[in-house]
Amino acid sequence: MSDESNAPRALSGMNPDEMTGRLNLDKAFRARQIYRWISDGARSFSDMTNLPANLRNELESGLPIFSTSVSRVLRDPDGTVKLQVSLGDGNAVETVLLTDAEGRKTACVSSQVGCPMACAFCQTGRIGYSRNLDASEIVEQFYHLEDSVGRLDNIVFMGMGEPMLNLGAVRKTVAILTDANGRGLSRRRITVSTAGVIEGIRSLADEGPDIRLAVSLTTADPVLRERLMPVTRANPLPALREAIRHYCEKTGNRVTLEAALMAGINTSDDEARRIADFSAGLNVHVNLIPWNPIPELPFESPSARETEAFLRSLEKLGLNATLRMKRGRTIGGACGQLGASVTSSAGNPPR
Ligand code: SF4
Repeated sequence: MSDESNAPRALSGMNPDEMTGRLNLDKAFRARQIYRWISDGARSFSDMTNLPANLRNELESGLPIFSTSVSRVLRDPDGTVKLQVSLGDGNAVETVLLTDAEGRKTACVSSQVGCPMACAFCQTGRIGYSRNLDASEIVEQFYHLEDSVGRLDNIVFMGMGEPMLNLGAVRKTVAILTDANGRGLSRRRITVSTAGVIEGIRSLADEGPDIRLAVSLTTADPVLRERLMPVTRANPLPALREAIRHYCEKTGNRVTLEAALMAGINTSDDEARRIADFSAGLNVHVNLIPWNPIPELPFESPSARETEAFLRSLEKLGLNATLRMKRGRTIGGACGQLGASVTSSAGNPPR
């Protein structure tokens, strides 16, 4: 499931022990200094002023600090920022800054080039899958955003790709960003979002790290869900529900169930009842996201009235539910829209 052999292409994706080995450093504290410099924003060895000059010169000819670069910056008037990040092999991914009503800044990062999950309502699903990102390519999305907009509060693995299929690199990214000697981000501020990969949910519950979990449920109708989210075939709803229950019990955390709402598709009272049945006895919160338009896809965004009515139906059934604000639509940076500006080089045909 995870790709533990996915070695980082740059120092940004290594912890101090790994750096010591890969750089052949004779003093372990030098790796800790480099690690600290990178999380503090150093982007060249010449910035690392407490390293001896001869070591800095040596390092210049070895592994790079970053393996990616920002090739495009798009800004939505609502404050959303989308970066196109070019990878060393010619591929590219997108990463997004979301700012909520309280001004908290969240990095929405990609974990794969494209995505193999083929959700029917998602732009990334259309471009197919090329490869997993390594930890440096994920960490750098966070750092690129911080370089562009300042210090971030949260990170969500909700961009391009299914993070549970790249759990090794996700775990490493979490370890790097939460290390007290580096960026020191709290685990409570990290969320991994899955389309419903049961093995990944169970692995997170049993082996950690203890971060927050979101599951893109969308509908609890098994036939409709299989049509909208092919992942349902190998990960059926009863087993998904059991994995979420196991995660809640093991971690004590509340899980967010995400639902992308499409007009006339999954907004009926029956749909609300099915979600209520699915959620019964689980420590969950439902987050509704009005579907963000993608011209090539045969769906429509629900009206404000339809969305509100569905929210009220869920509330009447006793569910804790909220509506996510529409953000980043004008730059293709909203949920499900990522990937329009990039193509995967392996190029599986759109599904
Ligand atoms: S919604 Fe998420 S899991 Fe589904 S195709 Fe898009 S990126 Fe992949």
